[in-house]
Amino acid sequence: MSGSGARDPAGFAVRVEETRGRRYPEWPHPYRNDYERDRDRIIHSRAFRRLEDKTQVFSRRYSDHFRTRLTHTLEVAQISRTVARVLRLNTDLTEALALAHDIGHPPFGHAGEATLDRLMRAFGDRFDHNLHALRIVETFEQKSPDFPGLNLTFEVREGIIKHSKDYSAEEFPELREYLLQRFPPLEGQLIDWADEIAYNCADLDDGYEARLLTVNQMRRGVPFFDRCWRAAACDHRAAPEKLQFNATLRRLLDVLVTDLIHHTEARVRQAGIRSVEGVRRARTRLASLSGRMGRENQRLKRFLHRNLYSHAALRADRETFTLAVEELFGFFLEHPRSLPKFYFEQTRREPVHRVVCDYIAGMTDHFLLDQHRRHLRP
Ligand code: MG
Repeated sequence: MSGSGARDPAGFAVRVEETRGRRYPEWPHPYRNDYERDRDRIIHSRAFRRLEDKTQVFSRRYSDHFRTRLTHTLEVAQISRTVARVLRLNTDLTEALALAHDIGHPPFGHAGEATLDRLMRAFGDRFDHNLHALRIVETFEQKSPDFPGLNLTFEVREGIIKHSKDYSAEEFPELREYLLQRFPPLEGQLIDWADEIAYNCADLDDGYEARLLTVNQMRRGVPFFDRCWRAAACDHRAAPEKLQFNATLRRLLDVLVTDLIHHTEARVRQAGIRSVEGVRRARTRLASLSGRMGRENQRLKRFLHRNLYSHAALRADRETFTLAVEELFGFFLEHPRSLPKFYFEQTRREPVHRVVCDYIAGMTDHFLLDQHRRHLRP
């Protein structure tokens, strides 16, 4: 179960030779397989580079040390690769999915997404960052003279859509090709857990670094943190608090990842699953924390919601960005000719609110504020 080194892939791992392929056929590459190529296309995309200036929780105003959506993405990729390797899954597909998992995120974190969604609902429409990520890789990235978008394999597009939730074919007929009545392979399922583990640990870390959370508060509010703290403190009694805290977080991350690996492996074994098709047709998603760790993890999330995400120190930034998104959205609706040419041309084929939403969702934090100043606060 443990240990590193190359081992045979599990029977339930996705095999690149069995890919359902790309929309537009391409010649094989001499030394990179299809999922490696997809991973590389994602890294070389504009949407990926823009993650550098998209807020995860703390905007750049605070410090250069906090996570951005790009460094968060790299942490998710690192955790996912480890889990995939130990479970003998397809690490290339896993890595491509992890690197793509947030490329559809609008500027300014969760508040940006919630605001765009609220504005779209006034038109009976919606904003969803997974659907937006699919539009990016299918349409907005213009890299090749031969095809629109990145021309990714089916499995990567499927994972982009299905890694974190299930969509019904009745509600989303445009997604019908993605086998909506089936679960995604384990490579996709584990991304959501790696994402959650990465941001829970990172947000404790950044919250402490920002002096919005104290060790005592975390020990009181999160019993699991307290146990990790006591275990880490036993080993490092003389160390400064910050270093004991780091040792605690390392332990916490390790316990969560180990639980995810063991529990997922146990569920696959108990269900007697030996193939990707078995994973797809299982009764539930198989990647999961155990019941006990799942509850500890929920408690940690609640603590972060109550004590960090809703902290007054983050509110001012959130209000600034929310207002900027709302006002820019209204401005471009009234003045579609102020959109860049590519987007203005889209308004001939799609409703203006959809095009404006796509344009704003692609912006970085910095560009959003810049556009807001230019058009609304000249
Ligand atoms: Mg994420």
